[in-house]
Amino acid sequence: MNKAAFYDYIIVGAGTAGCLLANRLSADPRNNVLLLEAGGRDNWIWLHIPAGYLYAIGDKHADWLFKTAPETYDEIIDAACEAWKKLTAKPDVIRSFRMRDSAHVGQS
Ligand SMILES: Cc1cc2nc3c(=O)[nH]c(=O)nc-3n(C[C@H](O)[C@H](O)[C@H](O)COP(=O)(O)OP(=O)(O)OC[C@H]3O[C@@H](n4cnc5c(N)ncnc54)[C@H](O)[C@@H]3O)c2cc1C
Repeated sequence: MNKAAFYDYIIVGAGTAGCLLANRLSADPRNNVLLLEAGGRDNWIWLHIPAGYLYAIGDKHADWLFKTAPETYDEIIDAACEAWKKLTAKPDVIRSFRMRDSAHVGQS
């Protein structure tokens, strides 16, 4: 069998967690790590401008456009870790989520 077909770890998704994990695991030269990513390159201009996320949400360049079941913000806060619940900026974060949702309702 082809040696290249053997991996100690196969990570699906080269996002935040996947890249971090791949970096840690591949630091040990004994590990053969395969990182799989389904998305495209990150060379779209709005991904490199801080406020660009406003354009990235809901655009197929950067968004899989999957829909989820409706959630309430109270459920999101309940599910968050303790450190996040204590974050003083939390009301601002939730407010920005609400603004984003309102904008998307307007788009459809
Ligand atoms: C607009 C926006 C702004 C944000 N700003 C911040 C911020 O300022 N600070 C902060 O801490 N967090 C921020 N977040 C949240 C943060 O980005 C996410 O919580 C974090 O990226 C989640 O990491 P993850 O590894 O779980 O998923 P992701 O980083 O989303 O990685 C998942 C990866 O898996 C890939 N994938 C999916 N399906 C497959 C498949 N079948 N095969 C292969 N690959 C697949 C996806 O393409 C993606 O690359 C923001 C999120 C958004 C959307």
